[in-house]
Amino acid sequence: MFLSLRSIELVGFKSFGKKTELIFGSPIVSVVGPNGSGKSNVAEAFRFVLGEQSMKSMRSKKGEDLIWGGSPALARMNRAGVKVVFDNSKRLLDIDFKEVSVERVVHRDGLNEYLLNGSQVRLKDVIRLLAGANIGGSGYQIISQGEADRILNASPRERREMVEDALGLKLYQHKKAESERKLEETGVNIDKTKSLRRELAPHINFLRTQVEKIEKARELKEDLAAKLSDYLAREHAWITQEDARLTDEVRAHESELKKLMTSVAEARGKRGTASDTAIQELRGKLSGREGKLAEARRESERLARELGRAEGALEATNVTVEQIVPVPHVRQFARDIEASLSDAERRDDMSAVRNVIAEVRGRIKSFIDGLAGMAPETNEEVRRQVETLSGSLERVQKEESALAGELEELRKKIAEVRESGFAAERDLIELESTVREAQGKLGSVQSARANIALARQRFEEEVREGIALVGAAIHAWEKSEIPQGALSEERSVQEKRRRDIERLKIKIEESGLGNGDQIVTEFKQTKERDEFLAKELMDLEKSAASLKDIIAELEKTIDVRFHEGLKLINEALNNFFAKLFGGGDAKLTVEQPRRKMPKDSLDMDDEGEEGGDLPAGRQEWDEGEELYAGLSISVSLPRKKIKGLEVLSGGERALTSIALIFSMTQVNPPPFLILDETDAALDEANSKRYADMIRELGAKSQLIVITHNRATMAAAGELYGVTMGQDGVSKLLSVKLEEAEKVAK
Ligand code: ATP
Repeated sequence: MFLSLRSIELVGFKSFGKKTELIFGSPIVSVVGPNGSGKSNVAEAFRFVLGEQSMKSMRSKKGEDLIWGGSPALARMNRAGVKVVFDNSKRLLDIDFKEVSVERVVHRDGLNEYLLNGSQVRLKDVIRLLAGANIGGSGYQIISQGEADRILNASPRERREMVEDALGLKLYQHKKAESERKLEETGVNIDKTKSLRRELAPHINFLRTQVEKIEKARELKEDLAAKLSDYLAREHAWITQEDARLTDEVRAHESELKKLMTSVAEARGKRGTASDTAIQELRGKLSGREGKLAEARRESERLARELGRAEGALEATNVTVEQIVPVPHVRQFARDIEASLSDAERRDDMSAVRNVIAEVRGRIKSFIDGLAGMAPETNEEVRRQVETLSGSLERVQKEESALAGELEELRKKIAEVRESGFAAERDLIELESTVREAQGKLGSVQSARANIALARQRFEEEVREGIALVGAAIHAWEKSEIPQGALSEERSVQEKRRRDIERLKIKIEESGLGNGDQIVTEFKQTKERDEFLAKELMDLEKSAASLKDIIAELEKTIDVRFHEGLKLINEALNNFFAKLFGGGDAKLTVEQPRRKMPKDSLDMDDEGEEGGDLPAGRQEWDEGEELYAGLSISVSLPRKKIKGLEVLSGGERALTSIALIFSMTQVNPPPFLILDETDAALDEANSKRYADMIRELGAKSQLIVITHNRATMAAAGELYGVTMGQDGVSKLLSVKLEEAEKVAK
């Protein structure tokens, strides 16, 4: 038979104060020796190296108890180490080495080390590796001294664990536990991820609304940029056009005004002088004519008087001068003289007085002469005189009327000249008012031009503001053509555009988010993080689902294998039981599922309990706790009516246990079994049966049997004797069967 267990080496482990090695050369190796020599320590060395964590099962309280404590002969040690070596040429262990050593070391401070082929590993790596080879932790394959009926005393749950272990389900259990742990971790991560996402959600929402606002503001800005470009292009075109037009107009008005001013200056220069001199001249002429007219009138009056006198004289024949000199004539003469004299009296100037006197003398002479001359000699003469006088009178009267006509003409002319003077004045006034009008027009055109300058200033301000608000995009207005209707539309249309733009600016300002790049970036990053988390959550949920599947699959495998295995165990059990007891039967039964309890309370509550019913008061267990169906055992002895474990004798209990342990190893034989005085309670007949069964078992698993029993020793192919000398150190020696019995005593 192929032996996978090669050797075990103990250094400082318990009573093995010196390095001791057991080499397993036979399928059945028996360890013999007197009480207290250290045999059980060998079995415990196996427990220890295979990863046993219960100190109790190694008869210790703490790790330190496992270390050679020293004796007067040999000082204590600081570490205990056990190394087991496997032949792995058949790949018993899932590791790529032909020989595998598993070593455990415990230090005084309780620290444990595990080594696989000399390299440090974790306990769970060791457990996993061994579980793969059906070397398990429930310890069913190491039956300690006095623990043969442990499987009978065990709780249904522990019993089930042992059976599962024996069936090689530990590996699946480990895998399941691992998957459950991963599932738990995944659940924690799912919760963490969910909570992270929950934490992110309000922030994302906040950022989203901010970004929406920013986008809206950006849209507004784009709208503003377009509107502003259009507006500015129009405004620029309009200002340019208006400026040119008004400049022309100003120029035209200025030149017109200049002309007008020249005209006014001329009109002012001409006004008055020409008409004044003309009137003067005419007036001179007028007074000359008026003098002549007065003279002509006097002459005509005189002639008329003389004519009257002559006509009177003609009427009277023989008339005297006195007769013919009419009284009025004389009175007139006297009045004239009187007047001249009065005139003379008023004058101071002598020469003037003299002149008057001379005039008076002349008058008197001519009056006298008149009297002499006029005194007609004859009627003929008188008639002739009358004719002459009439002729003269007529001539003078003609002259008088001509002069009167001339005067009239002159007066008319004066009026005309004056009139023409008035017209010139009126023209000047008119011209001046035209000038004022022209000045007014020029003024209004100039103020319009000033307004255009203001408009240009405002335009430049608007461009600056536009750049600040929407950036360089605003310069688009410079490139665009003059928009349609820019130069022909009503100004109010453009004003309306300006108001719209102002409103837009206010809206943008109200949004108050600046350019918002930072927020947009933050939103993007936060969203990416959330998306990453969402993806991670999906992955986690997927892996949780697949872990659940794996767990379910493993549970199914465990369940199927367990039930199949249990069937085979029961068959073997029946066989062994019948062999040992010469009949009867024993059976392992799966109990009703119950809630899993913490191990301690189960140990306490389930002590010796075989029934599957829930104890009173257990109904309140948490719903979430796993249902667990333990294994109960029922026996029925031949020729005995009473059934149940309670009624078995010590030996019967030992036999039942042995039957059970052996049947368990049949289905999935472990590489080795360690039986520490399992046969202690057997009588001779049963010891023989036990030895037979050992041989049967030895065909499938390596056996290390600690015994005091000769029949058992005889079944072994190799015997080791353990002795303890005065130094308290266990020693090992290879012995022959004949010596063995001696050694054992
Ligand atoms: P039995 O046949 O009576 O079952 P055994 O051969 O199985 O006896 P063990 O129980 O293996 O004997 O050995 C017990 C011995 O080991 C005791 O003498 C005990 O003093 C010794 N021992 C246990 N732990 C230590 C230790 N840490 N240091 C030294 N000796 C120890």
